[in-house]
Amino acid sequence: MKIKTIDVFQVDLPVKGGVYRLSGGREYTAYDATIVRISTDTGFEGWGESTPFGSTYIAAHAGGTRAGIDLLAPTLIGMDPRQHDRLWDKMCNTLKGHRDARTALDIACWDIAAKAAGQPLCDMLGGRTPGAIPVISSIGGDTPEKMREKVANHRAQGFLGHSIKIGASEAEGGPMLDAERIQACLADRQPGEWFLADANNGLSVEHALRMLSLLPDGLDFVLEAPCASWRETQSLRQRCNVPLLLDELVQSEADLMQAISQDTCDGVGLKVSKQGGITPMIRQRTIAASAGLVMSVQDTVGSEISFATILHIAQSTPRHLLRCALDPRSMVTLSTAEFEAPIVNGGAEAPDALGLGVSPKLETLGEPVATYGV
Ligand SMILES: [Mg+2]
Repeated sequence: MKIKTIDVFQVDLPVKGGVYRLSGGREYTAYDATIVRISTDTGFEGWGESTPFGSTYIAAHAGGTRAGIDLLAPTLIGMDPRQHDRLWDKMCNTLKGHRDARTALDIACWDIAAKAAGQPLCDMLGGRTPGAIPVISSIGGDTPEKMREKVANHRAQGFLGHSIKIGASEAEGGPMLDAERIQACLADRQPGEWFLADANNGLSVEHALRMLSLLPDGLDFVLEAPCASWRETQSLRQRCNVPLLLDELVQSEADLMQAISQDTCDGVGLKVSKQGGITPMIRQRTIAASAGLVMSVQDTVGSEISFATILHIAQSTPRHLLRCALDPRSMVTLSTAEFEAPIVNGGAEAPDALGLGVSPKLETLGEPVATYGV
């Protein structure tokens, strides 16, 4: 089987609720999504998505995603889409870094491989674990009262995991406001709930230590991505006893090995477009599991194709190490594909359909912005 053509589509995904806020005053109103269709000489079609969160999240942006695909896609024409490591090597040897550009191409090849094998993707990735995958809520930075309400709203829908955004500037309220946000979100905590306080690399060590000193003992939460650099994170690690989960700092296998060798964290957030697709996701999942790190399986953001990828990876991840998956559909208002995985009682299960199990809406995607292989 050979890759015959690659089509690239572009859509804007408007943010649900109008605006999404992160630490450092970062705001997003829409996300620029790149969706890829790969067709083979045997008639298979595979789909993949790469949607960077925005140019201020990590070193990735949507224009760069498509510019990278423009370099990568021609080199994959004629290759076997089932030889994931060889495809990954080819992409690494064509373009350094830019994992977001490899992502959609890598996913589409996995979609084809699973369809050709007659399996849902989660079975290709090691086998389905039983039961629904707990989905995590995303509570954007706001007043403590509003964030407490949003947690209550998600709790009422059955969510057990809650990701609460912190990282207020001094002008907004600084460490005091962040401490109040954490306390408000945990105020009604129920048994079995899991809370992440996610700073998206937005805290200085000084901010983090002041915030932690303002919190009462006994609050059960994990601090995610507190600082922007390894040095700051390591410094904080040595001076606090709150469990740490890394996200933005861990993109490559080498990053993960560094975190493990220096004992920088207790868990890691693996995101499909941040790690570079399914091939590096499952490599890093194995490394993290070997070190006993807990994992959240997510994406930077995205639509149905992104969620399908997340869900199949999460569905095949050892359950005792999997904390949650993200449903990026809940963050945007545009639907790009049919995907039968409703959230029921705060969880979702990968469908039995072959491959990813997505049926993209061609009328929504419009005409390709680029085509390779013809
Ligand atoms: Mg995060």
